[in-house]
Amino acid sequence: MAGNDSRPILFMRPSNTGVAESLEEKSSASSSYTVLYDGQCEICQACVSWLKTLDRESNNQTICLPISAEALSAVDSRLKMDECLRQLHVVTPEGEIHVGWDAVTCLARLFPSTWLVGVVGQWFPFRSAGRLLYKFVATNRYSLSKCRGGACRVAKPETVRRQARLGAFWSCYTLGFFIRLPLVLWAAITAAAQRTSIFARTYHKRLDLLNGRLTILFLNGMLPNTVPLLFGELFTAVVYDGIAIDPGSPKMRSSLARHLRRVNTKITKIVATHAHEEHVGNLNWLSDMTGAPIYVSEMTARFLTPFKQLPWVRAAIIGQPPDLKPPFELLGEKVDTDAEGLQVVSTPGHCDDHIVLYDRKEKVLLAGDAFMGSYFATPNPDVDSHKWLVSLERLMELDIEILVEGHGHIHTLRADVPDFPGVVIRQDPKLAIAEKLDYMRWLREQIESGFQEQLPVRVIEATCFPWGKRPSWESCATDECIRLLSLGHFSRTELVRSFVRTNADPLPTVYEVRMSGRE
Ligand SMILES: [Zn+2]
Repeated sequence: MAGNDSRPILFMRPSNTGVAESLEEKSSASSSYTVLYDGQCEICQACVSWLKTLDRESNNQTICLPISAEALSAVDSRLKMDECLRQLHVVTPEGEIHVGWDAVTCLARLFPSTWLVGVVGQWFPFRSAGRLLYKFVATNRYSLSKCRGGACRVAKPETVRRQARLGAFWSCYTLGFFIRLPLVLWAAITAAAQRTSIFARTYHKRLDLLNGRLTILFLNGMLPNTVPLLFGELFTAVVYDGIAIDPGSPKMRSSLARHLRRVNTKITKIVATHAHEEHVGNLNWLSDMTGAPIYVSEMTARFLTPFKQLPWVRAAIIGQPPDLKPPFELLGEKVDTDAEGLQVVSTPGHCDDHIVLYDRKEKVLLAGDAFMGSYFATPNPDVDSHKWLVSLERLMELDIEILVEGHGHIHTLRADVPDFPGVVIRQDPKLAIAEKLDYMRWLREQIESGFQEQLPVRVIEATCFPWGKRPSWESCATDECIRLLSLGHFSRTELVRSFVRTNADPLPTVYEVRMSGRE
């Protein structure tokens, strides 16, 4: 990041691509205000989060760059590293440089909600008062945030490293959180409103796509409904070319029965992508109703006979699935249909027995839980992220135009799939998978170096969610709510553990925590 030092400094490792991208952005948008801030100072980072939030509503008039020799020389040759580290510098589109308090008022004048502060802040005596206040914060920010700022990051990385004690890290991290708290709460409120809207629009709904070849049945149930409302994961059963995939849990059975009475497609086979309770609770029931045979992988069959007792929260909300009863068939490399048939691809990671189904001709991937959005931070103890990375790399080799997730989202750019806001996401599926891969590789690096540095698990977890990264605070409330309600089963801590699972045997249950916790 900074200069020639490629070693990770402190605990946060910003991705290297950031600066280069921002610089590219900068050169293509000379009409913007360039804000140079100290990328290692929590106070600066938090202010940048606020600035970006304001700016999004005002058509992105600013570009924020963490200070580095590379960034400074690219922006303006008059900028000096020492001075930039001491106080905020803003370069206007006209090439003027504003410094410190004047830079703050210059930025404030860009946005309607802060305009007045920006104007009044230039007048006597407010200008003098503002400058004094700014000077106080600027000189004390190192002791306030205790991370000693980017000064050392650029000039003396080793010194910072030695001095950066965990106490300093936590005070820095906590301070960063509290400065952002209003943003965290606002993000939580907007996300809740969005989830409620999507829930209402999918309630007992059916989505017929590709001339009836692909049907998404949204499943509901009194207690299961809390999941889409609180966390945004919808429950679905997918029917593709007559194959019913993952037909829900016992608590969603009446919802499934209701769909069956209305759906015209004849169900010829039933397949489970993996042995999680919301996917396998109605296999025998649906088979009895339709006469269609059940297909599961050998490992899934093992996990389902018998299905071990779930932790009580999951059993209470989703429902304890019954054991799988014969007759059932084991999945081979392909599932035959009236059309081309579906290829079975083994994709361990989300859990050890996961498979996905792929239609090569139509370029449709029925991904189950092998893809749950590019950013997914609260896995359960079954997740093995190393295996998941390999599986995602395997999926990248497929030609995919429509990606159907097991929890109600469809990623596609294809025009024959109609818009359905909140469900159909207009994004190239391969790009979505590539983003997830990038995110997981970054996490892997973060976690591996954390363990190498012998940091406690809690600290490693915090470094995976630096407040400078938008999703860290944006989904913070939801993630912590999931942790609380699942009694820690689905949590950011499990994300760290998912990278350090050491046992090579397949995990036989959905609830055994492999790591006993290294704290
Ligand atoms: Zn699952």
